Amino acid sequence: MIYADNAATTKLDIDAFETMKPYLLEQYGNPSQSYSFSRTVKKALNDARTTIAECIGALPEEIFFTSGGTESDNWAVKGSFTQNRDEVITSLIEHHAILRACDAAKRNGKKVHLLDVDQQGIVSLSELERFITDKTALVSVMYANNEIGTIEPIKEIAGISHEYGTIMHTDAVQAIGHVPINVNELGVDLLSASAHKFNGPRGIGFFYIRKGTDIKPLMDGGGQERKMRAGTENVAAAVGMAVALRKNCNQLSKTQKRLCNIEKKFIEVLDKNSLEYIRNGATDRIPGNISLSIKNMNGEMLMHRLDLKGISVSTGAACNSGETEISHVIKAISVPENYAKGTIRISFGKDNTEDDAIIIANEIAAIIARR
Ligand code: PLP
Repeated sequence: MIYADNAATTKLDIDAFETMKPYLLEQYGNPSQSYSFSRTVKKALNDARTTIAECIGALPEEIFFTSGGTESDNWAVKGSFTQNRDEVITSLIEHHAILRACDAAKRNGKKVHLLDVDQQGIVSLSELERFITDKTALVSVMYANNEIGTIEPIKEIAGISHEYGTIMHTDAVQAIGHVPINVNELGVDLLSASAHKFNGPRGIGFFYIRKGTDIKPLMDGGGQERKMRAGTENVAAAVGMAVALRKNCNQLSKTQKRLCNIEKKFIEVLDKNSLEYIRNGATDRIPGNISLSIKNMNGEMLMHRLDLKGISVSTGAACNSGETEISHVIKAISVPENYAKGTIRISFGKDNTEDDAIIIANEIAAIIARR
């Protein structure tokens, strides 16, 4: 089996798993209790918070544990509106966690503006400048797109947002642990992350809230996470997430180099077979992400044929798989229809090898030749 769908989820890191085990079996105290049995657990949770903060240049008190990217994105959208600010600006190519949270906001009477992107998937800064006002509560633009890997000009977007006193959020789910991220260099106020995209466990993530940012809690309940996120914390998962993030960040440049070589090999083999395809996304993109739109192909069929050979890739975003229609991202970047229908996403991760790339590229070529 070759797994090449790392943008959908990644394999749990073994060190992360080993670190989690005691917090599942022996250290099961509730971190909110003050007796000694819970003290080790509370310390582990706060150590995990500190590690995560260090990895992104934040303060530990700016990190809040959530159930993942979807919750963090919902929190950003739903928590930012104020009496005087009832508008959100985001982009056409955001993940559905943002787009559907914006739909919900719209149903509650808020205004939503979706920024256009160019053919590489880069958001229009001039459009942002045209639409932002002092009524804009939030600008939310993803750090890197999950389908095509394009990295957005977040620093510039944060700069424009702050000129209007607007909160700037970035969904960095695809980027954290894959490219260096420092919240202060970027100037963002809010950031979403999800552990299972960087070899941590599924069902946990974090939300970065810059100190002083005016945002309301999403959940009502107990006083956990400094009264900002109710619900007993998933300590084992938080600890595993911190180990995975630290490890990925320590190996970042080495992994990037490896993935760059794997990508090169993959494209080399495709080109040797003279395939007619468009490689989607900007040149500045997440390492290992290859979105291809192949002429006169059916992406869904290609995915299933590769599956029969034991190869896992995606036709679009994982959350959408099963849908055969052209994804909102591929539509937004205006891929011609006879190419768009043949879109697949291969996303290599740190466990993949150049041999994997050669095998997948040759299989794609063979399937197309047999068509
Ligand atoms: N945002 C982006 C860009 C994603 O790629 C994903 C997952 O595919 C999410 C948000 C949702 O994250 P989670 O699966 O942790 O809810």
